Amino acid sequence: MNAPAKTEEFASTVPAGVYAETVLSVTHYTDRLFRFRMTRPDGFRFRSGEFAMIGLMVEGKPIYRAYSIASPAWDEELEFFSIKVPDGPLTQHLQKIKPGDQVLMRKKPTGTLVLDALTPGKRLYMFSTGTGIAPFASLIRDPETYEKFEEVILTHTCRDVAELKYGFDLVEEIRSNELLSEIVGDKLKHYATVTREDYPFKGRITDLMASGKLFADLGVPPLDPAIDRGMICGSTAMLKDTKDLLEKAGLTEGANNKPAEFVIERAFVG
Ligand SMILES: Cc1cc2nc3c(=O)[nH]c(=O)nc-3n(C[C@H](O)[C@H](O)[C@H](O)COP(=O)(O)OP(=O)(O)OC[C@H]3O[C@@H](n4cnc5c(N)ncnc54)[C@H](O)[C@@H]3O)c2cc1C
Repeated sequence: MNAPAKTEEFASTVPAGVYAETVLSVTHYTDRLFRFRMTRPDGFRFRSGEFAMIGLMVEGKPIYRAYSIASPAWDEELEFFSIKVPDGPLTQHLQKIKPGDQVLMRKKPTGTLVLDALTPGKRLYMFSTGTGIAPFASLIRDPETYEKFEEVILTHTCRDVAELKYGFDLVEEIRSNELLSEIVGDKLKHYATVTREDYPFKGRITDLMASGKLFADLGVPPLDPAIDRGMICGSTAMLKDTKDLLEKAGLTEGANNKPAEFVIERAFVG
């Protein structure tokens, strides 16, 4: 008897109602961070900024975790930017994936960090820490973001400089993409800071906002609810502190069914 074809063997282990996609490339940035790209299922639709449940089969059982889709809605492939938690049920395995491996993805994406959840404005701030940059990696590569806003400011804060590299690579990729660079022009500003190493831009984003240094460095006026909009993605503490500052400036929180001046999403449950 012939051995079953490899795809059939694998197909029998994929839970029903779940996509099994092929890893195309993996880039390791530090011992805590990596990016990977995989095939995009036919018919899989999402809005830039949304997240999906992705997973792996571990000892015969699927393990899923929420992941922001870092690629824009128009991209033929899907990109993710991931943490490596040494004993993490998913990422202790996910960090070892190689091109050709299969990653599971549940069919329904969701999320609040979408352009539809914001009322019209002129300047869009995206505040992120760590892997919280992932939904913004999607949005800064989506032409719709630049149709809706005259200026887009991406802030990214990490512990050390090596952790900022993904953000710099993204901006570099936009600049070297003929089509995208024309659309983005000089509308995108990338403001990267670190908390634990010497660097020209140092400190938590909330401290830099509160002191006014962020606005002075960027050459923009302080937050104004009439024109400024915000999206926040980071740890629970970072979300709370940033949200407090936006609310103090007069911005109100929105949602998919009730667009307003800013939206938030946790980068992880911690
Ligand atoms: C809406 C949403 C979107 C998310 N998007 C992403 C994403 O794009 N990329 C990503 O890497 N993770 C993301 N996460 C976190 C992700 O779901 C998992 O927690 C992470 O992949 C670790 O999984 P794990 O099973 O290895 O460990 P878990 O048991 O899930 O986590 C163990 C501990 O590790 C810490 N931790 C988990 N995730 C992170 C993180 N991203 N950064 C810093 N510390 C963390 C927390 O302290 C947590 O309690 C998201 C979470 C939510 C709720």
